[in-house]
Amino acid sequence: MENSHALVIPYPAQGHVIPMMELSYCLMHRGFRITFVITEFNHARVMTALPKTGGVNGQIRLVTIPDGMAPGEDRNDVGKLCESILRVMPCGLEALIRKINESDHDTITCLVADWCMGWAVEVAAKMGIRGAAVWTVPMGLCAVMFHVPKLIEDGILDADGFPKKQQMIKLSPTMPGLSTAHLLWLCIGDRVSQKSLFQYFDGCTRATKFADWFFCNSFYEIEPYAYDLVPKVLPIGPLMAGRRHGLLEGNFWPENSTCLSWLDEQPARSVIYVAFGSFTIFDQCQFQELALGLEISNRSFLWVVRPDLTNGSLNAYPDGFEARVANRGRIIGWSPQQKVLAHPSIACFLTHCGWNSTMEGVSNGVPFLCWPYFADQFQNQAYISDVWKVGLQMKPNSSGIISREEIKGKIDELLGDEGIRARSLELKRIAQKNVAEGGSSYKNFDDFIESIKSGSVREISMNGTVNWLSL
Ligand code: UDP
Repeated sequence: MENSHALVIPYPAQGHVIPMMELSYCLMHRGFRITFVITEFNHARVMTALPKTGGVNGQIRLVTIPDGMAPGEDRNDVGKLCESILRVMPCGLEALIRKINESDHDTITCLVADWCMGWAVEVAAKMGIRGAAVWTVPMGLCAVMFHVPKLIEDGILDADGFPKKQQMIKLSPTMPGLSTAHLLWLCIGDRVSQKSLFQYFDGCTRATKFADWFFCNSFYEIEPYAYDLVPKVLPIGPLMAGRRHGLLEGNFWPENSTCLSWLDEQPARSVIYVAFGSFTIFDQCQFQELALGLEISNRSFLWVVRPDLTNGSLNAYPDGFEARVANRGRIIGWSPQQKVLAHPSIACFLTHCGWNSTMEGVSNGVPFLCWPYFADQFQNQAYISDVWKVGLQMKPNSSGIISREEIKGKIDELLGDEGIRARSLELKRIAQKNVAEGGSSYKNFDDFIESIKSGSVREISMNGTVNWLSL
C-alpha cells in the first residue's frame, strides 16, 4: 500500500516516549508517514528540551491530546495519571483519528500503541483500523500480564491483583523467580491506587486482544522462556534511539552533550557511567552515600543528576564533594545516554535497571551494577545478575542503605571480572545480530511492514459496541 500512515501512541512517560519514537523512525525509514500522539504536557517538555540546532523530521508529525490533568498536578502519581488517561484520552484519540481520516489522501493505515495504552488498539479496531501492540517493557513482564487470570485462578492473586501471601512466582521452570512484592502495580502508591493501577494494566493487556500484531522491545535469546509462554508476541528489539544526530528523540530534559568530548579525553574503559532514568528518586541520605561511594572508588565517573533526582528541594552533595572530585567526575542533568554507552571510555553502567537502559547497556556490551528502584526493574536486575550474568547487584545494609563501601567494593569486583566482560560482549553480538538485516527481530519487523503494505483489509469480528472497560 502506497503512502502508509501510522499513528503511534506511547504511554506518557520518558521510558515509553523514547522507544516509541525510535519505532517511528524505523517505520519512517520504510516509507511510512507518522503521526506521533503525545500529551500536551509532554509535548511542551519535549519541545523545550529539543536542542536549538535540532529539529523535528517532517515525516514525523507530533500531535497533542490532553491527558486530563491540570498543568501543576503530579504526573508521577501513576494511579491518578492512569485514571485520567482513561477518562479523557480514548475520546480524544477517536476524535483525532476522525479528523485525520476526513482527508482522503492521509487516512491512517495502522495504529501502533504502547501496551500501557492498550485501550487505543480497541479504539482503532472499532474504527476499522488495524493495530499493533508494543511492549516497551521486558517480555517477562508481558508474560506475567498475560497470566494474570491464571494467577487469580490458582489463588496466588485475589481479584484486585493483591497477592494472597508474599512468595516467589515462576511462570515456567526456566524463568527467573519474581517476588509478588515486585509485581508492577504494587510498586507505587497506597492500596487504592495499586488496585486502580492493576485494573488499568490488566485492562490494557486484555484490550490488546484487538491487536493484529504483538511486539516486544527485546530479543528472543535473552528471554526465550517468556516468548515461549506467549508465542503470539514477537521480538523486534532492541530498539535504539541514539543515532538521530540532533533530531527529535523525545527527551523530556535537554541533553548535555559536552560530556561526549570529556569522554573523548578519558582512557578506554575507565569511566563509570551512573544514571537512574527518568523516575527514580533518592532520599538525601542515600544520595550523599552514593556520592561518597563514587568518591572513594577513586575512578572517573559521569553521573546524571536530574534536577529532581532527590526528594529535597536541592540535590545536596556532601560538603566539598564537587571540588574533591572535580578532576575526575562529571555531573550533568541529562545525558545523550545511548551515545555515552557506546563510547569506548565507558567501563560500566551503574543503573536502576529500567528496561530501556538495560537494552541500551546490553546493545553496547557494557557490564552493569544494578540498583533497581521499582516496577519491572527488580525482574530486570535478576536477568542481568543471575541469568545473563553480565552484572552485579548492589545490596543494601541492615538499615536499607547501599553504603559507600558496597559501592566501591562492587565497582572493583565488577571491573576485575573478565567473565562478566566477555559475556557482555557476547550479548552485544547477539543483540546486534537480531536487529541487523536478516536477524530475527529485523525479520519480525519486516514481516509487519510487508503485511501492512500489502493492504490486506482487516476483518472485524467483534459483536456489539466495544467497551474496553467491560472486558
Ligand atoms: N536517558 C537519557 N539520558 C539520561 C538518562 C536516561 O537519554 O541522562 C534515557 C535512556 O537512554 C532511556 C530512557 O531515558 O532510553 C530511560 O528509560 P528506562 O526504561 O531506562 O528508565 P525509566 O526512565 O523508564 O525509569
